[in-house]
Amino acid sequence: MTAARVSIHGGHSKEFGDANDSTLEEIVRTYADKGFEWVGITEHIPPASGDFLFPWEIEAGQTLESRMERFTEYFSVARRLQREYRDFMRILVGFETESYTGYIAHVNSLRSRFQPDYIVGSVHHVRDICIDGPPEWYAQAVEEAGGIDALFCEYFDQQYELIDELEPEVVGHFDLIRMHDRDYRRRLETPEIEERIRRNLEKIKELGSILDFNLRAFEKGGSEPYVSSSILEMALDLGVPCVPGDDSHGVTGVGLHLEKGIEVLTQAGFSTDWPLPGATAHEN
Ligand SMILES: [Zn+2]
Ligand SMILES: [Zn+2]
Repeated sequence: MTAARVSIHGGHSKEFGDANDSTLEEIVRTYADKGFEWVGITEHIPPASGDFLFPWEIEAGQTLESRMERFTEYFSVARRLQREYRDFMRILVGFETESYTGYIAHVNSLRSRFQPDYIVGSVHHVRDICIDGPPEWYAQAVEEAGGIDALFCEYFDQQYELIDELEPEVVGHFDLIRMHDRDYRRRLETPEIEERIRRNLEKIKELGSILDFNLRAFEKGGSEPYVSSSILEMALDLGVPCVPGDDSHGVTGVGLHLEKGIEVLTQAGFSTDWPLPGATAHEN
């Protein structure tokens, strides 16, 4: 049996997010055309404060208020599409978190206001510095943390706090911190980093949550998805499910690298009987 086409993380559009093109409807239609069985639409949350608007967003005239309005509109359009496509494809409507100052109260309030089907818990900031941007920002974070190893440790500690506080049904691009580090394979296996990875995976297991097997890593210059193979093995040992996420930004990202991702998961020994986010969470 061939694995069903699914994506647990993505659907970022130009309309409601940071993609270069596409409306959410165009993206959803593309998923349906490509025969996806189910798809999670997980747009980024609006910032917790004006400090976390990116320079180009301020330049484009965005404000906290305009971002909140856009997010409200996102939920209403996504829910409409969820209903309209009901007979063709299952759509789950969620959002993707941040981890900067004030995030816990902010995410909790968005969660109770918008009632998402699930959330993707993602860390894009350490010490309030974005580690998912240009290399200069990453270098700045390395400097402030006092070295790359220390930054990795802080990233996984930040992630643990997020998982513990928010109990996200899905954890997004678990090892994103490796993005600008050519020596990451060795680093992920150094004891103080590896023990944090194990601790976080055990927490994910305890919550019944799922790892986003994030295929956009290939688009960011990586040679393997997030998570990396050593973490994938650990997740398999611990019984943490991994489900592909194309993290699509616009229609061109829909299903991108999915076959490759499914092949890696299958070869590693993962089930392709993909669990739906939220189906197993919070059971205990
Ligand atoms: Zn992300
Ligand atoms: Zn994303």
